[in-house]
Order: sequence, then C-alpha cells, then structure tokens
Amino acid sequence: MSYSTTKSQALFESAQLHIPGGVNSPVRAFKGVGGTPIFFDHAAGAYAYDVDDNRYVDYVGSWGPMILGHSAPQILDAISARMVMGLSFGAPTAIESDMASEVCKLIPSMAMVRMVNSGTEATMSAIRLARGYTGRDKLVKFEGCYHGHSDSLLVKAGSGMMTLGVPTSPGVPASVAEHTITLDYNNLDSVRECFSRMGDQIACVIIEPVAGNMNCIPPNKSFLQGLRELCDVHGIVLIFDEVMSGFRVALGGAQAYYDIVPDMTCLGKVIGGGLPVGAFGGKRAIMECLSPLGPVYQAGTLSGNPLAMAAGLAMLKEIQRDGVYEQLNARVDQLLEGFQAAADQHGIPFTFNKAGSMFGLFFTELDKVENFRQVADQCNADRFGKFFHGMLEEGVYLAPSAFEAGFMSLAHTEADIEFTIAAADKVMATL
Ligand code: PMP
Repeated sequence: MSYSTTKSQALFESAQLHIPGGVNSPVRAFKGVGGTPIFFDHAAGAYAYDVDDNRYVDYVGSWGPMILGHSAPQILDAISARMVMGLSFGAPTAIESDMASEVCKLIPSMAMVRMVNSGTEATMSAIRLARGYTGRDKLVKFEGCYHGHSDSLLVKAGSGMMTLGVPTSPGVPASVAEHTITLDYNNLDSVRECFSRMGDQIACVIIEPVAGNMNCIPPNKSFLQGLRELCDVHGIVLIFDEVMSGFRVALGGAQAYYDIVPDMTCLGKVIGGGLPVGAFGGKRAIMECLSPLGPVYQAGTLSGNPLAMAAGLAMLKEIQRDGVYEQLNARVDQLLEGFQAAADQHGIPFTFNKAGSMFGLFFTELDKVENFRQVADQCNADRFGKFFHGMLEEGVYLAPSAFEAGFMSLAHTEADIEFTIAAADKVMATL
C-alpha cells in the first residue's frame, strides 16, 4: 500500500481552527522541513503509529524521555497503581521524598531538589534562585542552547559581543533581555573576556552540557572545565541544563560523563517518564535560599504530582539496570555507522555527532560540527528536509528539524536499526 497521510492532513486542518498553527508547541508544525505534521495515534516500544495506520520507528521519543521506549509496562504499571490513590493533593506525599532522594543519589551535585512541571519552569526557577543567591542580575547563555521559553532566555546576542541582549520574541521586554548575555558555545575566550569585564554583575551561566537544541553538539571537555574554573574565580553560579542530557548521556548525566560538577542542575522530561515534570537542584547553600526556607519565591500546585513521581521513579529504577547504557551506546553506534556508510556510498557529504543515546545528523562538508553557526550556515537544511520526508515514507520518524537531536531507546532492536539503515540507503540514493 502506498504511503498516505490523508487523516493527518484533515486533522491538521481542523486543529488550526482553535489551536494557533494547529500545534501546542511550534516544532511540531514541521516548519523546518515543510509539509503537514503527522498526527499520532498510539505508540509501543520503538514504534509510533499515526492516524493513517502508518508505523514509524521513532527516534524522537517525545524529545527524550522515552528511554525505555513507548508505553513501557513498568511505567504504565506504576502509573496505574498510583492512579487509584488519588491524582493530586497539592500537599506533601511520601513519593516526592522518594523521588528527591533518588535524584540526589544519582546526581550527587544535587544536595537538594525541587520538583516543577516542565523544563521551562526548572530553568526559570534556577535562574531566579541564582540571582537571589548572588544578588546579581545578569546571566550568560550560549547561542544555540535552548532552555525553555521564559523571558530571560528568549534572547540573542546584540550586534557586538558584550552588547545588550536583544529579545528573540516580541513580548519580551528589552529591559529584561538586557540582562542576558549570549556567547558562543565551545568558545572559552569569549567567556573569559566577558567575565573579566563584568564578572561581578553576573549571577549565573546556564548551559546545555551536551547541546540538543542546535542538533546534537557535544562540548569540548576543556570548554566545560574552563567554564567551571572561570565561574569559581568570579563567584558565578554554574547551571547545567540537563533537561535533555540528564540520564541520557550517562546515568549521572553529562556532568558524570565529563566529570564536571556544576553548582545547579535542571532536569525535565526523563524524570517524568513521559508525564509533565521538571526539577532543579544543586548545592545546599543555594537551595536553602528557596521559599519557604529562604526568601526566593517559587511554587506550583501540581509540582511533585504523585502520578508523575511514580512514572519517573519507575524510569529511574529501570535505567539503573546493568548494561543499559552499553546497549544504548551500541545501538547508536550501529545506527550512525550505517547512516555514514549509506551517505558515503551515495556520495552525500554527511557527518554525525553523538553523546550517549543522543545523536545528530548533519548534511555538511564539515568533518566536525561544533557550534550553532556551523549548523545554521554550513549544513544543508533543504537536503535534511528531503531526507526527513523520504524517511517518513519509509517508516522512520526523525526529529522534524535540522536543529534537533535524535534519541535512541532500549526498545530499538538491531533489526529496527537495520530497517532504518536500509531506509536511509534508499532515501540517500534520491537526494
Ligand atoms: N532545557 C532544555 C535543554 C530543553 O531541551 C528543553 C525542551 N526541549 C527545555 C529546557 C524546556 O523544557 P519544556 O519544554 O519541558 O519546558
């Protein structure tokens, strides 16, 4: 049967009547790759099925949390068992402490942790806390890193380095954006220069220690190490946004993988096992500034929701089993080697990045892709769009943007990966 998305197209039409752009988060609209978004119906293991009954090997996995694959029985069972006890109390439950102690055990730089409902809330709250703790206003972030959509973070660099930040979205006041400084990822010199000029005004540096929002860009280890040292010299709080990399790159996150200890960490997605969750935590002295212990306010009616905690705890239990990360890494290697061989076979300039079970695909002449500018200016987005749509038709769902990472799960079998590579081989022949 030929590939058809008739029902998805009809659903997209009707979705646009009452949902802006037909989607509840912009990347879902396929703007980066063109065409009509796929509407999903259900998913199990490595597969997601759309409303037209097409099956896809899914390498998005809800943008990271599906480490066990979709509808993992361990997670569904945990949610079912918890569900009958009540959905939300807005009051303390024991399972919140179970989650907190598990997170602090797995990520020892987090002496204390506060649960929230999304990655956006986690980073926004961590920044407020860092500002409250240091009594400083400015924050440093890096071009191409995404930390959610709070005002201070929707900011790009001004025209010259160290100029005032400029909002990337209408609705963000210039008076907020001016406190955000945007520097180049993997460029320690720019950080050094910035800190020497205004280090005493900077509350925090926030970074994706493996970037997953400009495609997948791992850090140079010396960059993270240098950042750590410079933050110490200037009394600046170093925040690792591990919303994607946490429990993905390694059990202890990118901080374990690269052996760098941040002052604060933001988590998300994964610790909800697919339910809406985020968390931020770090050094005790910093966390003790948080309300109700300290003066920095932060709150949430649904924070620490027992269903989300149950799902997340089940996930954290499963990923502590022996061999999990070895399996994920081996599958990623198999996939990427297969893609590279297919590209080489068809004379398509191509390279990849990987960090644990996150990976990035680049249609580029470059040997190595290390920052946002290279992704934006030296990778072929049109070719990616054609590849993406070709793969869809072959039954493989990749992230619908050349600026997003891919994710492997434990449910992907060697056969699924062989299937994917065969699809890539076929599609690359047409590019
Ligand atoms: N930080 C990072 C590194 C992310 O990848 C994301 C989302 N992709 C966020 C923060 C924001 O998380 P959320 O979408 O849950 O608000």
